[in-house]
Amino acid sequence: MVKLSELQKFLVDKAIIFPTAEMYGSFAGFFDYGPLGVEMKRAVKNEWWNHFVRGRSDTVGMDGSIITHPKVWEASGHVDAFHDPLVECKKCKTRTRADHLIEDRLKITAEGMELKDVATLIREHDLTCPKCGSHDLIDPRYFELMFSTEVGAVEGNIAYLRPETAQLIFVDFPRIYKASRGSLPFGIAQIGKAFRNEISPRNFVFRAREFEQMEIEYFFNPETRIELKPNDTKVNVLTRDAQDKGESHTPLKISSLVNFTSEWHVYWISEVWNFLMKIGLRPENLRLRQHTKEELSHYAQDTWDVDYLFPFGWKEMIGMANRSDFDLKQHAKHSGDELKVLDGDKKIYPWVMEPSFGVDRLIMALLSDAWYIDKDSKDKRQVLRLNPKIAPIQIGVFPLVNKEGMDTAAWEIYLELSKHFRAFYDSKGSIGRRYRRQDSIGTPYCITIDGDTLKDKTVTLRERDSMDQKRIKIRSIGTKISESF
Ligand code: ATP
Repeated sequence: MVKLSELQKFLVDKAIIFPTAEMYGSFAGFFDYGPLGVEMKRAVKNEWWNHFVRGRSDTVGMDGSIITHPKVWEASGHVDAFHDPLVECKKCKTRTRADHLIEDRLKITAEGMELKDVATLIREHDLTCPKCGSHDLIDPRYFELMFSTEVGAVEGNIAYLRPETAQLIFVDFPRIYKASRGSLPFGIAQIGKAFRNEISPRNFVFRAREFEQMEIEYFFNPETRIELKPNDTKVNVLTRDAQDKGESHTPLKISSLVNFTSEWHVYWISEVWNFLMKIGLRPENLRLRQHTKEELSHYAQDTWDVDYLFPFGWKEMIGMANRSDFDLKQHAKHSGDELKVLDGDKKIYPWVMEPSFGVDRLIMALLSDAWYIDKDSKDKRQVLRLNPKIAPIQIGVFPLVNKEGMDTAAWEIYLELSKHFRAFYDSKGSIGRRYRRQDSIGTPYCITIDGDTLKDKTVTLRERDSMDQKRIKIRSIGTKISESF
């Protein structure tokens, strides 16, 4: 598996993802995406949108505001309870997330633990400062995670930058549901930035202060049964019970998860899994983990994460919470609006299933999954084996030499291909080098235009993973590439 430092160096060197404002010493927890990174990010978001919004007749999209009415976060519970336990070193003043300190040192899950229990564990195990090793730690306290700002010319008019996209969906639900002439089940999806003032951002974009989410709130009537299609796919599963007994994950069929959670939850686990397979993640690096009773959020009936085996261990990539009717009831209470909907002849508060994807974590997982060094090749060829759907560049177009009409023919082909694919034109350096450069950034196909192209309208198509080279007609290039998607 790729090391984090190796992956990070590669991403920064190629300007795929890198710390923001490097010339001013960068800014912890904030990152920029360069030309290749932004193409990949857009591709991932488009695949997701096409799959979950355009590909479903029961789900619509929206795009809400980032700076949000403060009442939204009072109703949702964020103002009172969106905080992490912070522990500070008396000696070097380093501030650390206390539950992460416990998890790192004692190898137990501490997320959601009461502050007094966190303090007891730190004291009993005499945990030390991760930076200077001092035993002198100030008792943990809560640290608020929402970024606030002032709005308009009136001082003290505080508003928050959204820490999740979800709440915007709840407050817009009545208008969107009505305008869409919705009926249950009904999904609203959103892709956008979220902001959390993380105590210790780390592991590159995995834990950032500004990141992007892709979320669906799927409103349903819990009294209505959903017909589950049998799904015999076996996936790594770590149930709540298994964690309580200190066991590790085991392969289980997706259908069999009805023994551990609701059918609606199994339905969404299966939908999310299908998407992850579609964009090419390797199942052996994924596991489903059910939240323990202690870590369940105040709003959740049950939550399952999709964890990925990151270079720094199994960590959450996607959260799938059953939020029940918590949010709509809260907003009804705080706004005074009627937020029930008619289902059959009954007015109800719908329940909500929430698949919540972190775009940056997903991209990091896709990149570490695709990372491959071909040890058998003389120059230890480095390849990013990304699925063609999400590769930043899908086809490289090269004239063998930059003259004798090959350059103009190649340019014309490039212009045509770039109407349909993410294409890249390169006429510099040896062909071998040009292939290697594209391999390293994940380009699945390259074509070379040579002297014969001008005579018989064929090109050499070279495939990234097998390195096979085939002669094909210019007019069949598009079909050939699309077939591999
Ligand atoms: P964690 O326990 O790792 O802090 P979380 O449980 O607070 O994550 P959620 O509130 O469930 O995360 O957010 C949904 C998704 O948003 C996560 O699965 C993750 O992919 C992404 N996400 C959350 N916080 C961050 C962050 N600081 N940086 C990057 N992505 C994040």
